Amino acid sequence: MSTALSSHHAVYVGSFDPLTLGHVDIIKRGAAIFDRITVGIGINPGKDPLFSPEERLSLTRSVLAPLKNVETLCFEGLTVEFIRHCGARVLLRGVRTLSDIETEFTFTLANRALDPQIDTLFLMASEKYTHVSSTLIKQIAQLAQGAAVGKLNEFVPPEVIQPLLQKYQRTK
Ligand code: ADP
Repeated sequence: MSTALSSHHAVYVGSFDPLTLGHVDIIKRGAAIFDRITVGIGINPGKDPLFSPEERLSLTRSVLAPLKNVETLCFEGLTVEFIRHCGARVLLRGVRTLSDIETEFTFTLANRALDPQIDTLFLMASEKYTHVSSTLIKQIAQLAQGAAVGKLNEFVPPEVIQPLLQKYQRTK
């Protein structure tokens, strides 16, 4: 438990099913503050994601390739154990609304109980992305007609659009 963890290295975890512009905004803000950011794609056997871990890893890596101090990995198990395995001291979280903070409060206290050396830092994305979530994007990709499909580029990086539409056998 006494390994030195780096305060200059933060880890940002999530399902990223798929990666949204809200996630990218948080990652860019984190990358401007910390020397190194590790994006951790959580593999949760209890969830049934739209994109496989390999697909999420490859999409996320291609979108984040221009950010030279950002790497992306998949992980299983406890977030704090992954952060410690990375040698980082900081867990980065994005918040959209006050209700996000309420949920995060419990996670933060639980993570602190599990590993007191790791601290959580909250960042707010641009207000443009307050309503953006992976769940909403999947609903739009599945249900939108006509011009609304074209609006996907306001929510997800360009690399994500075709793979997303293909999942629902749709085209742009
Ligand atoms: P999970 O499935 O664990 O909720 P997500 O992939 O949805 O993970 O999100 C990962 C992190 O990104 C969380 O901290 C979440 O609050 C944050 N986040 C998601 N969407 C946004 C957004 N639009 N703006 C800011 N933060 C966001």
